[in-house]
Amino acid sequence: MRLLPEEVLRREASQLCQRVHARGWVANHDGNVSIRLESGGFLASPTAVSKADVSPESLLVLDTEGKVLSGGRKVFSEFALHLAVFRARPDVSWVLHAHPPTATGFAVSGEALFDPPFMAEPVVSLGACVPTVAYAAPGSSTAGLESVIADVDAVLLGNHGVLTVGSDAETAYLRMELVEHLARIQLVARQLGGPRPIPTEDVEKLLEARKKAGLGGGARPIPSAAAPPAPVADVAALVQEALRRYR
Ligand SMILES: [Zn+2]
Repeated sequence: MRLLPEEVLRREASQLCQRVHARGWVANHDGNVSIRLESGGFLASPTAVSKADVSPESLLVLDTEGKVLSGGRKVFSEFALHLAVFRARPDVSWVLHAHPPTATGFAVSGEALFDPPFMAEPVVSLGACVPTVAYAAPGSSTAGLESVIADVDAVLLGNHGVLTVGSDAETAYLRMELVEHLARIQLVARQLGGPRPIPTEDVEKLLEARKKAGLGGGARPIPSAAAPPAPVADVAALVQEALRRYR
């Protein structure tokens, strides 16, 4: 997906924050979003504001190191995490962080989520699992996140919440929704005897389909606004193709 004009990105970021709040994935001042700009800098949600109240005008403009260039508030303390993702993933232009209750329950309990995977489509959409990055205080090392974000599009932040990435606002949002949905499924499955993993060989085929679709860390960097947008992957079709071809 190409980088859109800042005016459009501001509107989409504001709408994304309001959707995240409406879904109950944040409370108080929780959660944040940042967006890569064509200039090399970033847009970011302001700190200490409910996500219900983030307007297009309230977004901050940051330079390549995260210093505030314009906007009336400070940047959130977790921006170093976002910056680490942008550095590691040239294909990513949106980073979304929230505290959806069920997935965050996994993050604070230390129970692994979708590991091993128990459904096919999320492997293509998110990666081989939703790894948990060990707890780190705001502003401390980002090494844990950097070590896993090359291969997956969603992570649990230990004792904290969830972080998803995408080439556009909708993709980052849908990945957050999927992580929370998987957490709810896994919680129910555990009451029924535990989820049964899908075969390892199928996971490998699905990961090949993911790579072929240009999803994940191997994806192409985001082209300039002059280039045509990349096609959106049809995950269901990729899953069907991958499993049919190898069975
Ligand atoms: Zn948080």
